[in-house]
Amino acid sequence: MTCYYCDRHVDGHHHQHDHFPIPKMAGGTAVVPACLECHDLKDRYTLARRWPVSGYFEALRGLMGEALISLEKQDSETAAFDWLASHPSLSDEAVLARWSDLPPLSRVLYGKLRRLHEEELFRQRKNGLEPSHTSALVAALRSTSADRIRHNAS
Ligand SMILES: [Zn+2]
Repeated sequence: MTCYYCDRHVDGHHHQHDHFPIPKMAGGTAVVPACLECHDLKDRYTLARRWPVSGYFEALRGLMGEALISLEKQDSETAAFDWLASHPSLSDEAVLARWSDLPPLSRVLYGKLRRLHEEELFRQRKNGLEPSHTSALVAALRSTSADRIRHNAS
């Protein structure tokens, strides 16, 4: 068995069942095998505190490809988040289609964004709001470090 994110071999005793793409708290039941390190990066460590700055940027660049350069052209943080949230490179279809070509950390970052996204949709429904995918994705992206995106993209 291999880790869904880094392809490392994990044996029956040392892998974890990671809820992907929908987290358990939002009702997700599908699980993938994950090594402890990837699971920690995805669910337990925050981007602001435990992820290396360069690792985060490399992962984002892996996910977005050349499109990331266009981030520089956004003239405000809000515009940058809206642009990112609506970018087709971040759709499930687009990402899962090239999953095997993505660097491990990009896969983990995507899993993290998807988790935050689904948790936000879950909160919106719980509060009686009509779930908005764009606002949920923006919230997920915003909870990652805005400063890092802006600092590293410039
Ligand atoms: Zn792993």
